[in-house]
Amino acid sequence: MLKIHNPATGAPLAEVPEATPAIVCERAAAARAAQPAWAALGLRERMEILQRFRVALASEVEALAATLTAEVGKPIRQSRNEVNGLLPRIDFFLAQAEASIGAQQLHDDGSTREVLGFDPLGVVVNISAWNYPYFVGGNVFVPALLAGNAVLYKPSEFSTLTGLHIARLLHESGVPLDVFVPLVGGGAVGAALLEQRIDGVFFTGSHATGQRIAAAVGPRFIKLQLELGGKDPTYVADDADVKAAAESLADGAMYNTGQSCCSVERIYVHERIHDAFVAAFVDTVNGFVIGDPASEDTYIGAIARAPQIAVLEAQVADARAKGAELLTGGRRLTDRPGNWFEPTVLSRVDHTMDVMREESFGPIIGIQKVSGDAEALALMNDTRYGLTAGVFTKDEARATAILSKVNAGTVYWNCCDRVSPRLPWSGHGDSGVGLTLSTLGLQTFTRPRAWHLRRP
Ligand code: NAD
Repeated sequence: MLKIHNPATGAPLAEVPEATPAIVCERAAAARAAQPAWAALGLRERMEILQRFRVALASEVEALAATLTAEVGKPIRQSRNEVNGLLPRIDFFLAQAEASIGAQQLHDDGSTREVLGFDPLGVVVNISAWNYPYFVGGNVFVPALLAGNAVLYKPSEFSTLTGLHIARLLHESGVPLDVFVPLVGGGAVGAALLEQRIDGVFFTGSHATGQRIAAAVGPRFIKLQLELGGKDPTYVADDADVKAAAESLADGAMYNTGQSCCSVERIYVHERIHDAFVAAFVDTVNGFVIGDPASEDTYIGAIARAPQIAVLEAQVADARAKGAELLTGGRRLTDRPGNWFEPTVLSRVDHTMDVMREESFGPIIGIQKVSGDAEALALMNDTRYGLTAGVFTKDEARATAILSKVNAGTVYWNCCDRVSPRLPWSGHGDSGVGLTLSTLGLQTFTRPRAWHLRRP
């Protein structure tokens, strides 16, 4: 049995049976058998079913948000934002599906037609993270199902109840039980899924697990997408609006209690405005309300996974030992049950410190003073990751000059921690391979078929 606890209180929430290896095998075979009929249903019918899923989701936002808050410790307003945020993503995929993955006639000379078709991959595995289960799951299962795939879905063991809600709503909307198959459990269930006869793996999670998955499936030449962590930098130039930049970046660093793949994780500030920026940033952070995630006022919730607290403590200790200044926070909260860490700001940091090199995945940020654009760019690129990067400046040309040279899949001018269904979500380097979202994020769940059709 998988025991589920509320990370904000430590209280038990539920016990859910874990999938055994035999069940994984049996369910994978059932998905294989069911997939051709799902593909044969046609895109229009699948679109109608996913449209019903959207309606069902919208009608249960409050209850779904409450479950998410209870099992991952996400502040309730942010849980609601997430469930609501999946709706426009579904709308985007539905609006684009026919143009993106419907057959396209590309040539007709009277005797020969050339048609580009998009076949489903077949049976795909989706192994998901807990930090945004609606977003990272929905980026995969919505387009994968639209494209005619069967999906073996393993929610994170830390967001299982949400995963089961997603499965229930999809099934109630008309997706057959064997076409969307939730499999409950931790890493062992994920690993067992990889051993099945599958046509693709779509993973969201840590770099360490991504490496294990790549090693497991690499020799099989099946489609592999890995959406992994980041150490996302932002540079604040000397002409930026200091207060606006500080407020935006404090939110970008601390939203979801800093547990976002695209959280701002490093800030470089031009020396001319450094002290004013740091003061405004600390002011903003000190205004964040930390506490019961179910309360409407809460902005900083619990740390979903207890072991992460030790990572945060070690980063603070390492930085202080090497000369960083702790401006606020820096400690786990021990005056209450559950997993808690204070929002933490460090200055006088540098790249010898883990806090500027390794993903923190918590409410902690290092702010480093730089002499100008060239130093900022060099430091932003001094990382093995490459998910997002940003620049705050009044000058668009200055921003684009820097951002075009940053090694990242997503770049931001005067904003951060932002995802759009219209644009692809992808990482460079250790942040992963492949992409989700955008029209490319529909096509990625298909394989092309080139039709050469000559009339008799
Ligand atoms: P994790 O790697 O611990 O777990 C992710 C999933 O992998 C879980 O479902 C887990 O059960 C499963 N898993 C663990 N071991 C496995 C194995 N050997 N074989 C198969 N599956 C296995 O990551 P997490 O704590 O759930 O998520 C946090 C990480 O995810 C962070 O690094 C974050 O940056 C990243 N993330 C990235 C994106 C993105 O879009 N790039 C989005 C969200 C989260």
